[in-house]
Amino acid sequence: NDDSTVSITVVGASGDLAKKKIFPALFALYYEDCLPKHFTIFGYARSKMTDAELRNMVSKTLTCRVDKRENCNEKMEEFLKRCFYHSGQYDSEEHFMDLDKKLKQHEGSRVSNRLFYLSIPPNIFLDVVKCTSKSASSGNGWTRVIVEKPFGRDSDSSSALTRGLKQYLVEDQIFRWIDHYLGKELVENLSVLRFSNLVFEPLWSRQYIRNVQLIFSEDFGTEGRGGYFDRYGIIRDIMQNHLLQILALFAMETPVSLEAEDIRNEKVKVLRSMKPLQLEDVVIGQYKSHTKGGTTYPGYTEDKTVPKDSVTPTFAAAALFINNARWDGVPFLMKAGKALHTKGAEIRVQFRHVPGNLYKRSFGTDLDTATNELVIRVQPDEAIYLKINNKIPGLGMRLDRSNLNLHYAARYSKEIPDAYERLLLDAIEGERRLFIRSDELDAAWELFTPLLKELEEKRIAPELYPYGSRGPVGAHYLAAKYNVRWGDLTTEQKA
Ligand code: NAP
Repeated sequence: NDDSTVSITVVGASGDLAKKKIFPALFALYYEDCLPKHFTIFGYARSKMTDAELRNMVSKTLTCRVDKRENCNEKMEEFLKRCFYHSGQYDSEEHFMDLDKKLKQHEGSRVSNRLFYLSIPPNIFLDVVKCTSKSASSGNGWTRVIVEKPFGRDSDSSSALTRGLKQYLVEDQIFRWIDHYLGKELVENLSVLRFSNLVFEPLWSRQYIRNVQLIFSEDFGTEGRGGYFDRYGIIRDIMQNHLLQILALFAMETPVSLEAEDIRNEKVKVLRSMKPLQLEDVVIGQYKSHTKGGTTYPGYTEDKTVPKDSVTPTFAAAALFINNARWDGVPFLMKAGKALHTKGAEIRVQFRHVPGNLYKRSFGTDLDTATNELVIRVQPDEAIYLKINNKIPGLGMRLDRSNLNLHYAARYSKEIPDAYERLLLDAIEGERRLFIRSDELDAAWELFTPLLKELEEKRIAPELYPYGSRGPVGAHYLAAKYNVRWGDLTTEQKA
């Protein structure tokens, strides 16, 4: 609407996330002409800065996409002119009132819509929400608040935070940006793949799928920034949110429509059909120091910001089951870890054996390697490939495994937008699909909270694994218990 304005306030603008992700994403949206005609961006934090200093700070992290280099500098200048800064305390209604005055000057007599992005530590979320709602919310348009992860650390703290927010906001105003994976191109594509191609959906059940694997790995450790991580650990940081959200999206029934509420309703149903994790369903690990090629990589507890006796897992593998008609008995295996031998995130779908396979003899004893597997590589180097059996050309009858391969970089020349661009655009447009509703979040916490409590209360020691390795051996035993062999990203990346 040409008569309305959107004011975007980045609270915590002096921080890392604002610089690294939020301002660059806003600029990308501006460059793509996706921001409304009338918009203003404000940075808010305690640090003292002038508008010029904010612009200077922001300008250092703005980039143009490879395919959009024309007018790049000009566009940056235009964008920066619309960025301003206001310094204030997070718990001062008065300081937010000053911000309100400045916002009003920019908004003029137009309908004003306001978006607040809370890019601050979670312990000050409530202070800010209180101040914004009392002193800086819109009088005649919408006011929305984006809340970053972590959203609580268990069922109780998460619902306490939601209760706190709801003193000042209604659910529709809260945009919980807990899972940036949902904004990733290939995760978004999951539903397209399934619901718009006849060849996948009929196979999408226990009848044809043997197991599903959700794998996340990083090839670096906490590197001196373990303070935050140590309070949360890999299960909260990656599994309970990112991998579980992907699982829900993967396994949900066909939604009534693509409307956010319809999709979220189906995701909640999946989460509520699962039973809370038990200790025996999980393997936890922590990386230890390792020397390779003359370089020594430090162990997790050697990070100065981590307590020496920390038992926080930097790796976890878990087996989950969905007790519904579609998925009964199918193991959904998750694996997430830091300081592993490779980096990436992928979804692997292993299909069942072909009954009465005529070509059994060509595979020798290892029939497992002959089953089809669909791999969705979320990052890096996005790709979707289906492993099939194929005859090696020639007079004999020899088979091998080949890939039907959709490699994004080769197929699409367009650069893939960052997940933060989608997030901001959706929040401005009021599209809630990628944001987590409170009942979804409750259901997600219910699955993990008893396990997390038990791990912490009993101080269960993680299995140590060398920095840069494939993680603890226990993960293989866990998978073997369900007749599963983990797929291996590295061997296939080269294929
Ligand atoms: P940050 O740099 O630690 O904090 C952002 C700003 O908040 C700081 O510049 C500081 O601004 C203010 N601040 C920091 N500690 C504070 C404290 N104890 N009390 C009051 N104000 C404080 O955080 P960030 O890395 O930008 O991340 C922001 C939020 O996003 C956090 O909730 C984080 O968990 C989440 N997140 C971050 C990332 C990431 O990649 N960095 C990824 C996912 C989620 P002033 O001192 O100028 O007020």
